Amino acid sequence: MNYFVNEKGYYGDFGGAYIPEMLYPNVEELQQNYLQIINDADFQKEFHALLKDYVGRPSPLYLAKRLSAKYNANIFLKREDLNHTGAHKINNTIGQILLAEKLGKKRIIAETGAGQHGVATATVCALRGLECVIYMGEVDIQRQAPNVARMKMLGAKVISAVSGSKTLKDATNEAMRDWINNPVDTHYIIGSVVGPHPYPDMVSIFQSVISEETKKQLLEQTGSGEPDYVLACVGGGSNAMGMFYHFINDENVKLIAVEAAGKGVSSGFSAATTFLGKEGVLHGSRSILMQTADGQVVEPHSVSAGLDYPGIGPQHAHLFKTTRAEYVSITDDESLHAGLLCTQLEGIIPAIESAHALAYLEKMTFTGNENVVVCLSGRGDKDMDTYMKYFGF
Ligand SMILES: *Cc1c(COP(=O)(O)O)cnc(C)c1O
Repeated sequence: MNYFVNEKGYYGDFGGAYIPEMLYPNVEELQQNYLQIINDADFQKEFHALLKDYVGRPSPLYLAKRLSAKYNANIFLKREDLNHTGAHKINNTIGQILLAEKLGKKRIIAETGAGQHGVATATVCALRGLECVIYMGEVDIQRQAPNVARMKMLGAKVISAVSGSKTLKDATNEAMRDWINNPVDTHYIIGSVVGPHPYPDMVSIFQSVISEETKKQLLEQTGSGEPDYVLACVGGGSNAMGMFYHFINDENVKLIAVEAAGKGVSSGFSAATTFLGKEGVLHGSRSILMQTADGQVVEPHSVSAGLDYPGIGPQHAHLFKTTRAEYVSITDDESLHAGLLCTQLEGIIPAIESAHALAYLEKMTFTGNENVVVCLSGRGDKDMDTYMKYFGF
């Protein structure tokens, strides 16, 4: 079974590049160049130097002793929360900005929902001195004022998307329109393993450093680089793809992807894509997405902005359909309690996204010997408002 992309840009039934004709030249330029650029020795050297000295990699693999005692297994946390800017997203934006430079691009655009990807993009644009334009829904701009301020302070121009529901989907449409109008000098940095081929593959390659490091670290710490379980939360699916990447062909390693159930999978306020979704096309690729009978995208809900997305990347759809990975879901309440537990047992405040992955440990049973790696995709500073309101601190 091939779990990776084929030469046509597909993962089984999923993937491809479903784009307006006017985007063909941009996407084709990427398709034809991305692997050669990424695999170039100079590119690799520069990428890894920045990951080391700017991002602070390798991120630690930390054996969480008190969580381990509670769950009766060896629980290892892959500490993406310790990265510069506080999450895994920077791994991808560093990779893409270097790639954009190699393609001779002078201008970067991106879309953002909660603002995390916008901040990661504005950060690398400041680092490399490239012009940066971030599209963000008008509603999200109001809801995420601190991230808007960060992007502006970093020198980015934040453009408000005022059509439709004025959220992520509309910001994505605006960014696409910009790219069509500026095909020569502009690179579009997509923030997860979604979008037309080659984005899902490209982003997963940049994020694969997570599992590459984990394997080595686990080998050093336990004598085996092969954990029993690997868990990660899934919005679009980039931290999960990075966490799964080097374990996918090792069928002894069980892969668990945790979606956001919101107020409950059947509540009408959920983002549990594999439970609720059907096959269809979203943001340029064929995948699984939440949609009505006539194909309208359903508004998702999750307490965590990063998981509030109506689809999953095409490789996830393939891992789901082939059952190589198990897709489960965790509610808002469960995730917030898991975030509190991790904080009080380990002194680590996780992002609410990451707390979804932690919460699934509650539903598993262990015999005491299993090695379990959980991707702690980000830190919870950005979520303090939500934690405070929920727990009344
Ligand atoms: C954005 C984000 C996510 C969700 O994105 P994926 O592409 O699914 O990884 C998860 N965790 C954190 C901390 C995020 O910022």
